[in-house]
Amino acid sequence: MKDTYETTSAEETRRVAHAVAEDVLRAPRRDGATVLTLSGDLGAGKTTFAQGVLEALGAQGPFTSPTFTIIKTYPLPDARTVYHVDPYRVGADDLEALGWEQMVSERGAIILLEWPQIVAALVPEDAVRVELSHVDERTRRIAITSAQERTIR
Ligand code: ADP
Ligand code: MG
Repeated sequence: MKDTYETTSAEETRRVAHAVAEDVLRAPRRDGATVLTLSGDLGAGKTTFAQGVLEALGAQGPFTSPTFTIIKTYPLPDARTVYHVDPYRVGADDLEALGWEQMVSERGAIILLEWPQIVAALVPEDAVRVELSHVDERTRRIAITSAQERTIR
């Protein structure tokens, strides 16, 4: 299914992310992680969207960007883990060396992956794809595609 939104502030983008997070929480996977990819140009709102998901999942901030740390790990109160991953500076081989397969097979985990095109071969087919694009300075278009039937509203 595909949903498209237009937001006019970072706050509104976080609210869309909240709805997506609730949807992911409602349908946790038992066979591995749920991967959410975040694509878009610099400043499109990938990190803002990830912060909205983290807030809604009840992760403990500060939600700083993993630009330099590559992977930021957030344990959730219910013992699941959220991984916020930014492979921009490394690439697929390094991400594998950093334990990508383990993360993907971790039951109930949630992976927020920025720049998925850089590690395209590692992205599971059933990932929820979030594509952010600039419309103007304040407006962003957010397209969410999911292989599964979801109930985002
Ligand atoms: P990215 O991680 O894609 O590089 P960020 O989330 O770090 O982008 O930054 C997005 C920037 O754009 C922030 O400074 C944010 O305040 C601003 N912004 C303006 N309008 C929006 C919007 N509608 N949605 C998200 N961010 C917006
Ligand atoms: Mg970012």
